[in-house]
Amino acid sequence: MSQDTSSNRQHALPSYLNSEDLGAWGIYLQQVDRVTPYLGSLQRWVETLKRPKRSLIVDIPVELDNGTVAHFEGYRVQHNTSRGPGKGGVRFHQDVCLSEVMALAAWMSIKNAAVNLPFGGAKGGVRIDPRNYSKAELEKVTRRYTSEIGVIIGPAKDIPAPDVNTNPQTMAWMMDTYSMNVGATATGVVTGKPISLGGSLGRVEATGRGVFVVGCEAARDLNLSVEGARVAVQGFGNVGGTAARLFFEAGAKVVAVQDHTAAIRNTNGIQVHELLAHVEKHAGIKGFAGAEEVAIDDFWSVQTDFLIPAALENQIDARVANLVNAKIVVEGANGPTTPEADDILTEKGVYVVPDVLANAGGVTVSYFEWVQDFSSFFWTEDEINHRLERLMREAYRAVSEVAKYNSVTLRTAAFIVACSRILESREVRGLYP
Ligand code: GLU
Repeated sequence: MSQDTSSNRQHALPSYLNSEDLGAWGIYLQQVDRVTPYLGSLQRWVETLKRPKRSLIVDIPVELDNGTVAHFEGYRVQHNTSRGPGKGGVRFHQDVCLSEVMALAAWMSIKNAAVNLPFGGAKGGVRIDPRNYSKAELEKVTRRYTSEIGVIIGPAKDIPAPDVNTNPQTMAWMMDTYSMNVGATATGVVTGKPISLGGSLGRVEATGRGVFVVGCEAARDLNLSVEGARVAVQGFGNVGGTAARLFFEAGAKVVAVQDHTAAIRNTNGIQVHELLAHVEKHAGIKGFAGAEEVAIDDFWSVQTDFLIPAALENQIDARVANLVNAKIVVEGANGPTTPEADDILTEKGVYVVPDVLANAGGVTVSYFEWVQDFSSFFWTEDEINHRLERLMREAYRAVSEVAKYNSVTLRTAAFIVACSRILESREVRGLYP
C-alpha cells in the first residue's frame, strides 16, 4: 500500500488531450506545446492551460413557430479565470461543438492576457443555423440558453459577448433574461449590448478597427505604406467589412474579397462603401457589379500586401498557405491558420499578426463597456477609439519586442507573453481548496 508514491501513480488523462486530432482544440494544444520551452519555471503549471476549468453542455428545448418542439445543444466553457472573470463571445453555428468552444475559450484566455485585460477566457456556442429560424424562435433559443448557463455567468463571474451570428439584439435578450432571473437589472453581465442598454460606442466596429490598427503597425515594421497598399479580405461581416472599410478610407486598395456566397477580385480596387451597401441588400457579396467573380483559389493566390482572414477557423491550411501571395497576414478571425500552414507562411517570409493580438479590439472595447457599466459613466466615441488604438498599439509593440528578443514568430511571442501572465497569476494564487 505505502509503495504508492507520486512517481509511479498513473493519472488518467482527459479525453481531449490528444493534439493529433487536428480540430481547433488540437491546434491550440500544439500552440501551447510550442511555447512551453519559453516559460521557464512556470512550465510546472503548463498543464493548467491544457484543461478548461469548467465546461457546461446544456439542452435548449424551444417551441417553434409551427408548434413543434426542437432541441438545440448549447455550451459555455470557462477555460481559465486566474486573471479575472471569464470573458468571451457566444457563437450560433450549425457546426459548433464542445471541442471547438474549448479552443475558442482558450484563445480568449490567451488574447485577454496578451493585451493585458483583467479577464480570464471563456466562450459559448449554440449548435444552430440561425438562417433557418425566425426572430421569435431565435429569441426563445437565446433566452433558454441564457437561463441554462445562468448558473455560471454573471458580471463578476463570466461575461458573454457577440461572436459569429450573434449581435447586440442577442445580447439584449441575454441581459434581460439574466436580469429577470436574478431580480435586478444587470447590465454588466454581457457586453456588445445596444447603446440604449449600457452598450459602448465603438463596440460594433472595434474588432475591425483593431485589425486595422495592428495592420498599420505591422506595415510600419516592414516599411510598407498603407496608402496604396493592396488588401484582400476573407469574410465580409462585422470584422472583415469594417477592416476593409478602414483600410479603404486610409487609401489602401481592396483587391479581393471572399465570403460564403462568392469570391471577387478587382485589381484596380473595389469601392468598399458600394460593396457594403450591396451586402446589406443581398446578404452576401455575390452579384456585386464592381468586381469579377473568381474561383476560391484565385482569391487565396491574389497578389496583395495584406491578407485578412476574417471568417472562421482552419481557413489557411498547408495547401492554401502554399498559394498565399501576401506580405502580411492579419488574422481577424479566431484560429484561421493551422500550425502547419503557419510554418509554411513563416518559411515564405509572410509576416503573420496572430488572432490573439490582431482581433483583440472587440474584447478590448467589451472591457471598456464593462467598466462603463460598473461606473454608470459613459465615454465618448473618440475617447473609446483613442484608448483602443493606444492599447492595441502598445500590445503589438510589446509582443514584437518579445518576438525579436527570442527570434520567434509574433504568434509564439504573443503566447509567451500571455501564458506567462496567466501562469504567474496561477502560481501566486496557489491551489485551493
Ligand atoms: N467574440 C469576440 C472575440 O472573439 C469578442 C469577445 C468579447 O467581447 O468578449 O474576441
